Amino acid sequence: MSRTDEEAGDKPAEAKPARDKPVPAARPERRLIGIPVSSGIAIGPVFGAAEPPAVITRLKIHAEDTQAEVSRLDAAIAQSRKQLLKLKARLAILPEDSQAEIAPLLDAYLQMIGSSRLVRGVRRRVAETLVSAETAVVDETDALAEAVMAMPGDEDRAGRKRRAEEVREIGRRLIRNLTRAPFRSFNALPQGAVLACEYLRPADAALLDPARLAGVATDDGGADGHTAIMLRALGVPAVLGVAGLTEAVRPGETIIVDGTAGVVTLNPTRDTLAAARRAVTAYARELQKLALLRRLPAVTADGEAVDLQANLEIPAELPLIAQSGAAGIGLFRSEFLFMNREKLPDEAAQAEVYRSVVEAMAGDPVTIRVLDWGGEKEIEALQAEGVVPEAADLNPALGIRGIRLLLRQPELFETQLAAILRAASAGPVRILLPMVTNVGEVRQAREIYERVIRRLRRRGERLPDKAPPLGIMIETPGAALSADALALEADFFAIGTNDLTMYTLAVDRGDSDVSSLYDPLHPAVLRLVQFATEAALRMRMPVSVCGEMASNPKLMKLLLGLGLRSFSMNASAVPRVKQAIRGLNIDDCARFARRVMEQSDPVRIAELLAE
Ligand code: PEP
Ligand code: MG
Repeated sequence: MSRTDEEAGDKPAEAKPARDKPVPAARPERRLIGIPVSSGIAIGPVFGAAEPPAVITRLKIHAEDTQAEVSRLDAAIAQSRKQLLKLKARLAILPEDSQAEIAPLLDAYLQMIGSSRLVRGVRRRVAETLVSAETAVVDETDALAEAVMAMPGDEDRAGRKRRAEEVREIGRRLIRNLTRAPFRSFNALPQGAVLACEYLRPADAALLDPARLAGVATDDGGADGHTAIMLRALGVPAVLGVAGLTEAVRPGETIIVDGTAGVVTLNPTRDTLAAARRAVTAYARELQKLALLRRLPAVTADGEAVDLQANLEIPAELPLIAQSGAAGIGLFRSEFLFMNREKLPDEAAQAEVYRSVVEAMAGDPVTIRVLDWGGEKEIEALQAEGVVPEAADLNPALGIRGIRLLLRQPELFETQLAAILRAASAGPVRILLPMVTNVGEVRQAREIYERVIRRLRRRGERLPDKAPPLGIMIETPGAALSADALALEADFFAIGTNDLTMYTLAVDRGDSDVSSLYDPLHPAVLRLVQFATEAALRMRMPVSVCGEMASNPKLMKLLLGLGLRSFSMNASAVPRVKQAIRGLNIDDCARFARRVMEQSDPVRIAELLAE
């Protein structure tokens, strides 16, 4: 929520197509630049700056819980401060007049969560009236906002109203952080609207309905974070990391999101709108042309077959995968199954979902990755059921993530393995372990896996004669550099270049501030990919790339040249990648890969790939 909502009177955006709605002439056209994460062009009215007032249940607490409640409040204040400082740091890339407009507002918010009357008042209410931190925040911000409105003095009513709204806004931010629900339900999203907000969590993105939503733009977020991946999976044009966005947009005004170029245009002029509409038509034509590739085989010009599969986040993507011509699901990110629900799915519920996906693929292979919790993938039900701690680790990407959690919570792991095994009777399935760093983890996981198989057989479950292969993600430098040893333990490798890039370069993949440093073509990353690939090929073990690198047609020459023949990507990328492969020749690819791998300068590598 931003000051813009107050100015717009919190009215919901009208869901009229931009064509029918005259563009208000009052504000000039403005272009903002961000990170292109999902291609296509969206034109529509802005939705999303408006946020309903926080709905909280009024809760009393026991006197002995006061300290714990104050600690929760302190954590929410610290989190709010972090968010606001981050927004402030990003203002530097905006034009000076925009900075002058927004910076004082952020300063006012920061002051309010400092050692302020508001914070003191909330603390006092928790201790003296024994209410939850959320209740205290609502009561104190209401009281303070009313006091501001009633203040005598010269300030006019509009000024007082603005200050009261600022108090309420900081209260909403604190509550969002207290309830760990940084964003909201999208039930009110009007047909054809463009969602514009500060930040979208992967779990929120999973709730978006691509049939209603025209596009997405956010202040924060990186190219290969899970939110970006989800938006690509949904086929929604999106630009993330647009500094100053939520402060600049007004609900209901027309916005153009160019997810291919990474440009967001606010209040477009008539000419800009006309050009954007032409681009929409051209893009749709291009997609139609690419669809013709669906039935053509993925083979190089000199006849080398390449296996192209799709990544799947939610079962709703299955029709897109069918249209894409993918030969299977190379990465089923099962964590989305655990999100946005109060209780964890049990074995039967999971088995049903896995089975439905396996059946829908009608004999094509499905690689199901067991839960990869951690990093930015928050799952409330895991917190609610005490499986993971309430508060995130200091550095969650380096903490209990992926296989580390599953080995510490064998029940969670066994339940999921059992569900996958039950689905494996419906078609070819492989099981994939995330975030592996050493051989001990694979051995331990395999022991558990075999125990689950024995238990299911005793239970009389129908299982395939041969147990599904157990493979591992190569997505940490530790795994890549011990690929030769891991190849003796695992049945297949899936190279996850998203995390591999993040961990190799120490760059958060979801953080727009360091997005310019996030470079999957950095020689260090490429050398790790090469090392792991060669280790697998020596062992004649299947190896694929399932990170976002696989969806870039321009990288096929290099990846084929490194010896890779199997890729999994978001469904919409399959036709373009296939088109690229059909124009390549394996000997050329090998020569090209040798040239690239001789380079140690990322700039030179980028030049070679752009040639
Ligand atoms: C990866 O890290 O490259 C990967 C495919 O896994 P995820 O994006 O789900 O972390
Ligand atoms: Mg990963």
